[in-house]
Amino acid sequence: MTKVIDGNAVAEQIRSELEGSVETLADAGSRPGLATVLMSEDPASETYVSMKQRDCDEVGIEGIHVEIDADAPAQELYDTVEDLNADEDVHGILVQMPVPDHVDQRTVLRTVAPEKDVDGFHPENVGRLVAGDARFKPCTPHGVQKLLEHADVETDGAEAVVVGRSMIVGKPMANLLVQKEPLGNATTTVCHSHTGDLAAHTREADIVVAAAGVPEMIDGSMLKEGATVVDVGVNRVDVSERRSEGSQTESDEADTEKGYELVGDVDFESAKETAGAITPVPGGVGPMTRAMLLYNTVKAAGQQEGVDVDLP
Ligand code: NDP
Repeated sequence: MTKVIDGNAVAEQIRSELEGSVETLADAGSRPGLATVLMSEDPASETYVSMKQRDCDEVGIEGIHVEIDADAPAQELYDTVEDLNADEDVHGILVQMPVPDHVDQRTVLRTVAPEKDVDGFHPENVGRLVAGDARFKPCTPHGVQKLLEHADVETDGAEAVVVGRSMIVGKPMANLLVQKEPLGNATTTVCHSHTGDLAAHTREADIVVAAAGVPEMIDGSMLKEGATVVDVGVNRVDVSERRSEGSQTESDEADTEKGYELVGDVDFESAKETAGAITPVPGGVGPMTRAMLLYNTVKAAGQQEGVDVDLP
C-alpha cells in the first residue's frame, strides 16, 4: 500500500506545538513578530502574504504588514527593510518575491538583517546552511525534511535525487540532504534542465524531491519501486485543457469555477502505483512551507530575546 503523506496534518501538528513555544516567549514577556513586505500588485503575491498573516494570528505571532507602491523607487523598499531591521518588535522579515524589475533582488536579500532573515536567503545564512551550521533553514526544504521525518523515511545512506536547483528549493534541499546530521547523510544528486537523462537518475533514487515547476513531468515509469516521492511543484493547469486530455479528478466542480487546477511536478496517479510514499498536491509540501515560516519566526524571537524555546 502506498502511503500518502498528509502535509496538512503534519503542518497542523507543528503549528500546535509552536503555540506552546509562543507561550514560553509570552511568559518571558515577549511576543514574536513577523513583518511581511509587499511591493507588488500581483494577486497571487497578495494572497500569499495574507495567508502568512493569517497563519501568524493563529499561533499568536504578531503580524506586521507593510505595503509599498509597486512603482515607488527601489530605495523606499530598502529603507523600509532597514526600519524593520531596527524595530525591536520585529523578529522576522519576509519580503514577498518577486519584487518589481527596477528593484535589485540581491540588494533586498542582503539588506534584511541575517538574524531576522526567516526565509534563510541572506548570503550569510546560505553560507551557514552549506557549512552545516544553519541559523534558519529555508522554509520549503525544511518542510520537506519534516515530512520525511514524520513519514519515517530513512535518509541516512539513501540515494536522493533533487530535481531543480533554484535558490529557494533545489539548492538548499540538496544541501540539507547531504549534511552529516539527522535527516541528512543521503547520497544526493541534483538534476536540472541540462540533465541529459532525468529518468536514469530518478529510477535509481530511494527519495525523489521534485521542484522543477513542470506539470506532471515525473511519472511512475521514472521511479524505483517503493521510492519516496516528495512533490514540491505547484502548477496551474487550465481545466478545459485537462478535460480535453480526459482527466477526471475529484475536485472537478470547484476547479471548473476557478478555471484552473493545481497539479504538481509528479503525475500522482501513475507515481502512486510505483512509489512507497508520496506527497499530494495540494496538501503536501505547501502547508509545510507556511508552517516552517512560523517555526523560523519563533526561533528568531527566541534567539533575539535570549529565551530558550523548544521547537517542534
Ligand atoms: P525555478 O523555476 O526557480 O526552478 C526550477 C528548477 O527546475 C530549475 O533549476 C530548472 O533548471 C529545473 N527544471 C526546469 N525544467 C526542468 C526539466 N524539464 N528537467 C529537469 N529540471 C528542470 O522554480 P522554484 O524552485 O522556485 O519552484 C519549483 C516549483 O516548486 C514550482 O512549481 C513552484 O511553484 C513550486 N514551489 C512550491 C512551494 C511550496 O511551498 N509547495 C514553494 C516554492 C516553490 P535550470 O536551473 O537549468 O533552469
